[in-house]
Amino acid sequence: MKDILSNLSTVKRRITNTCEKTGRNSSDVKLLLATKTVAADKIEIALAQGETLIGENKVQELKEKFETLQTIPHQTHFIGHLQSNKIKEVLKYVDCIQSVDRISLVNKLQKRLDFEDKTIDVFIQVNTSYENSKFGIEPKKALDFALKLKAYERINIKGLMTIGLFSADNEKVRNCFRMLKNIQYQMLDKGIPSQELSMGMSGDLETAIEEGSTMIRVGTAIFGKRHYPDSYYWNETK
Ligand SMILES: *Cc1c(COP(=O)(O)O)cnc(C)c1O
Repeated sequence: MKDILSNLSTVKRRITNTCEKTGRNSSDVKLLLATKTVAADKIEIALAQGETLIGENKVQELKEKFETLQTIPHQTHFIGHLQSNKIKEVLKYVDCIQSVDRISLVNKLQKRLDFEDKTIDVFIQVNTSYENSKFGIEPKKALDFALKLKAYERINIKGLMTIGLFSADNEKVRNCFRMLKNIQYQMLDKGIPSQELSMGMSGDLETAIEEGSTMIRVGTAIFGKRHYPDSYYWNETK
C-alpha cells in the first residue's frame, strides 16, 4: 500500500513538473490508472486517494473487479483490443472505449447500442508507431475514419488514443505523439469533436504531456511490474 501511495505521488510530481516546464495547467492532464493484472484491492487504494479513472484491457478482468469497485465512484475506460464478439459484455462495464479502430467494429457497436437504446463515448485508436503488434488505424486513414464515425449517432467521439513507439530514441517517440496531435488538428478543422488526446504511459508520459496529451495511462509506475508481457494484452489471439 505504501508503495502505491508513494508511486502515485511520484507520478503526480512528474505531471506537475512537466506541466510547469511547458506552461501547461496540470489540471488539463488527466491520469488514467492502467489496471490490467492489478487486483481490485490495490485499485481501491488508488481510488481512495481521489483518482477517478481506470482503464482495463480485458473483459474478464472488468467482470472480476466490477463488484469490488462499483461502490467507489469512478469511470472505467476500455483500452485493450476490442473483439466484436465482446461488445455486449464490455458495454456492461465501461463508460468509454478508447480502442475504436475499424468500421466493422463500429457497425456492430452501433447495432448493439440501438438495441440497448444507449450511447457510448469513444476514442479513435491510431497506430502512430506502425508496429504490427499494436492495434489502431493507420495515421493516414484516421481522418477519413473519423469523418465516417461522425455519422453514427450513438457513438460520441471524444478524442484520439495512441501507444507511442517503445524506443529509447525519444525523438521517435515524440513523433508518434506529434502525429496524433496533427490528426486532432485535422479533425477539429473538419468540425469533428476531438478534445482528448490519450497518450503517454509510465515510460514516456513527459514527452506526451509536452506534445499536448490530455490523458496519460499509467500502470507500471504506480502498481509495479506486471507478470505478463504486454504482448499478451495486445495480441488478437488471446
Ligand atoms: C498497459 C497499458 C498502459 C500502461 O502501461 P505502463 O507502461 O504500465 O504505464 C497504457 N495503455 C495501454 C493501452 C496499456 O495496455
